[in-house]
This record gives sequence, structure tokens and C-alpha cells, in this order.
Amino acid sequence: MPAFAGAGAAHPEDGGTEEGGVARIEPLTNVDLWPPDLSAWASGNGGPSFVHRFDSSVPGPHVVVNALMHGNEYSGAIAAATMLAAGIRPWRGILSFSFANIEAFGQFDPGFPVMSRYVDEDMNRVWSPQSLAAGVASVERQRARELWPLFATADRVLDLHSMQHDRIPLMLCGRSGRGRDFARRVGLPGIIVADGGHAGGSRLIDHPRFTEGAEGPVALLAECGQHWDPASAVTALSVTARFLLAAGIVDAAALSPWLPSDDPPPPRLVEVTETVTVGTERFRFLKEYQGMDVIPTAGTVFAMDGEVPVHTPHDDCVLIMPSRSQAERGHTAVRLGRFVA
Ligand SMILES: [Zn+2]
Repeated sequence: MPAFAGAGAAHPEDGGTEEGGVARIEPLTNVDLWPPDLSAWASGNGGPSFVHRFDSSVPGPHVVVNALMHGNEYSGAIAAATMLAAGIRPWRGILSFSFANIEAFGQFDPGFPVMSRYVDEDMNRVWSPQSLAAGVASVERQRARELWPLFATADRVLDLHSMQHDRIPLMLCGRSGRGRDFARRVGLPGIIVADGGHAGGSRLIDHPRFTEGAEGPVALLAECGQHWDPASAVTALSVTARFLLAAGIVDAAALSPWLPSDDPPPPRLVEVTETVTVGTERFRFLKEYQGMDVIPTAGTVFAMDGEVPVHTPHDDCVLIMPSRSQAERGHTAVRLGRFVA
């Protein structure tokens, strides 16, 4: 292992982990997506560093586009920086762009690109009111506390992520009906996943502000594709453009460089029926799943957790973001779900 590995080797992904505690190390090549230069946005514009807020002075919603919740997932940062550089402004309401885990992003090394997901802990597991109020003073929790006033005033949040292996983009809308409805209005990516989060801690989109009550603010999490696939930056831009359009605060003409020429077909919805959390040191899938695989028959054994077989609980079971290798105990190995009409 390189000396660098101490900064974050083998951090589990959202539903994907590194090989047996040893990170899969493949340097970036010239066909990969490379990290953006964010130095122009470092100082922010009056609030926290790397946060830019634009108030139209016309009443309307506060919309936050958040990138870099995970330091190695920079397709969303490319989207946010592109829109900042293009001077995208709201005609009503408030538009904010934020780059969350700048410390982890700053550790990015193209020779070891899996290593900069976080510094001390996964930033997308610290957003419960309890975690924000108390607990360890990790790099991530301190930044989350600094950013929370931004999200606490947001009516619409788009949290931009990417995936270790999977290339099919997904919109995660959590459990709320309003999250599902708004994800349908955004319309991209073409698959919406209604899920309940992770046993390991609360994501931003799971905070009660965005989940409790019949009406209220909405937060969505877009998985824009594979971390280093250039297509993930294109997806992040088109999803962000559609999100701002659906939020009704930016003109379609201003967003036209990134909007698809035609309205996308209605997205398909997958309801998560079960989250499989790793219980032993030896969890393994019986074959390599690509993500969004459908296993037709209930009771099919698709993984072993130590000596315990893991079955599909129902027919037509969709495997969402399966980890491709040894997942750590207590982390999510895969979500199971079904397509619903
Ligand atoms: Zn992520």
C-alpha cells in the first residue's frame, strides 16, 4: 500500500466497496474524467467557503445544488462549476451552489483515485439532527455543521453523486411522496429509486426537514454514473438543468446548453423493499451483478453472508447498486426492490 493510503483506503461506496480492505488502485487515464479546478469558487460569496448564493430579490423557493458530498465524486462539481462560470442566476427565489467535502476533494490523487471519498468519516451519514448537534468533531461533521444553515433554509436540494461501478444513472428520492413527485417532475435520470437510506447513518436527503410531514422541502440525490466516466459529467449537467427548470427559478433559455432537446420519457420507479446490510466479515455475491439486474424468482440465493445464504424476498427482484467486492460489516451490500407502475 502506498503511504498515501492512510488518508482513506477502502472507504465503502454508496453500495459498493473496495476489494477486501485494499482499494482497487487504477490510475486515471486520458480517457477518464479529471477533477475540475475549483480555485475560482473557494472564497464563496459571503457565507461559508465554496458556497455561492444568488438572491433574485423576487419571492420564490431557495434551491441548493450540492456537489462533492464525497470527495472523489466530482462530476457534480464540474456541473456546479460550469453553471457558476456561465453566470446562471435565478429570476425568482434564491439559487445556491455548494461544494461540500472540499477537504477530501483536496486529497484527490489521480494515481489512486478511489482514496478521497472522505477524510474522517462518510459525510453522507452525519445528517441526522442528533449527529449534527453532537458527537465527534470530525472534518466531515464540522463542515456539515457549517453547511447546515444553508440546507435548513432550502426548499429544494439536489445532491450530486456518482458511483464506483454502476453506469446507469439513478435519482434517489427517499421515502417521501413529495420527493417521489418532484423526482418525476425533474424527469432525469430515467430511473427513480424510492429508498430508506442506510443503517450506517443519515444521508442529507433523509433529514426530517425533507422527509417528515405531507408537504415541505424536498431533497433528491442523483447518482450520475460512474465516478470517472466522462458521461457522468454530462448527466450531472442535464440533471441539474432539469432540476432548476422543475424548481421554476431559472429560465429554460439560460439552461438550454444542458437540457435534452426533447422532454425525456416518464422515469421508471423502483421501490426498495429491503436493504441488505452486511453482518459478517465474509459477505460475497455469488456472481458479478452490474446494478439494476432483475432476478425473476423469489427465494433465489444471490449472496452469502458468512455461512448464511441471502435470498431474493420476491419475484422480479431488482439489485440496486450492489457492492462488487467484500463489503464491510454494518455497511449496505445492496438494496433490493421492484419496478412499480
Ligand atoms: Zn456519493
